Amino acid sequence: MSSYYSEVFDRRRSVAVDVGGVKVGGDHAIVVQSMTNTDTADVDATVAQVAALHNAGSEIVRITVDRDESAAAVPKIRERLERLGLDVPIVGDFHYIGHKLLADHPACAEALAKYRINPGNVGFKDKKDKQFAQIVETAIRYDKPVRIGVNWGSLDQMLLTRLMDENHEKGGPMSAQEVTREAIVQSALLSAELAEEIGLARDRIILSAKVSQVQDLIAVYTELARRSDHALHLGLTEAGMGSKGIVASAAALSIVMQQGIGDTIRISLTPEPGGDRTREVQVAQELLQVMGFRQFVPVVAACPGCGRTTSTVFQELARRIEDDLRRNMPVWRDKYPGVETLNVAVMGCIVNGPGESKHADIGISLPGTGESPAAPVFVDGKKVRTLRGDNIAGEFEAMVGDYIRNRFGGTQAEDPDAA
Ligand code: SF4
Repeated sequence: MSSYYSEVFDRRRSVAVDVGGVKVGGDHAIVVQSMTNTDTADVDATVAQVAALHNAGSEIVRITVDRDESAAAVPKIRERLERLGLDVPIVGDFHYIGHKLLADHPACAEALAKYRINPGNVGFKDKKDKQFAQIVETAIRYDKPVRIGVNWGSLDQMLLTRLMDENHEKGGPMSAQEVTREAIVQSALLSAELAEEIGLARDRIILSAKVSQVQDLIAVYTELARRSDHALHLGLTEAGMGSKGIVASAAALSIVMQQGIGDTIRISLTPEPGGDRTREVQVAQELLQVMGFRQFVPVVAACPGCGRTTSTVFQELARRIEDDLRRNMPVWRDKYPGVETLNVAVMGCIVNGPGESKHADIGISLPGTGESPAAPVFVDGKKVRTLRGDNIAGEFEAMVGDYIRNRFGGTQAEDPDAA
């Protein structure tokens, strides 16, 4: 058991897998992944989105490889990312013709850090095992790990039918839903067994079994974890848009992770039209951070506001501070080691403001309705200043910057606002 997690719970010990330098499983921290939604053949758009996802905190990025043009673009994407100084591992997502694309495009096979294959659509009937074996053999040849990613929506129908028939012959002790869950688990485990028989090492295999309902996800991953020690990738597929997608993903993944299950996660949010794809990375990081598993960005504690905050000043300040911290993190992470542990409080009035602010590293208690227009600022539990006037937000922002520079900057520090 990792000492990192020991204070939280007993984490399931899986076999660690190296994905292009990022360690997944074992006692390594849970890894954040994401996936592009650009046409992979469009090198410019895909490089830009991979860079955005990585800069937002995605440690592995998956891209679709669905046709020759996409496969041909992969090495160009890899090269462009390297020129930008981005060494984020790129995973190829293959369906139906992965065996052919990898065989026809050796530079693509080489450039990818992992292959994701879906046993439900790797091939049909007598071609299934043959095409699966071709992909696994390619992975062995190029020394790449493989994620065997079962998906509820494309489940191996032959396996499902067989299990349904067997259940029927026994008098139907299991419900159709239970048989389907079992088929998902078996599809992942049998495919992993086959991959190992072909010669893929156990530490080159990651499993996932994505479903779209919270209770199904909990049941399937609990069973998968009980019956194997493979590293597991978690995600609620088709989670949906907006708050529904976030709540469903957080509910499902947090329950499973709290059982010690899961080595890497993705939050599959449907973006709003023209929306920001990096939102899924932010949600994944926030989920791991609020669960106490990892720290990525400083925490801004803000009260919800109430009838004592009739102006929007404190909401605007909380948003401004949070945006500023997140925007600067790609640079600050290296420049100010430990800055992600910072706690900032932005509170709306005198009721809980001073108390919460004292518990934070730096906090401000803004004046509520009817209070005198003064905002005490607390640093390391002590009141250090009272801000007044029209520029309270700007002055507090500068104080947060000073605090970061003084506490995390060491001797080399410069003004963080100049970053
Ligand atoms: S701290 Fe003040 S403004 Fe904020 S929720 Fe509590 S009472 Fe309302």
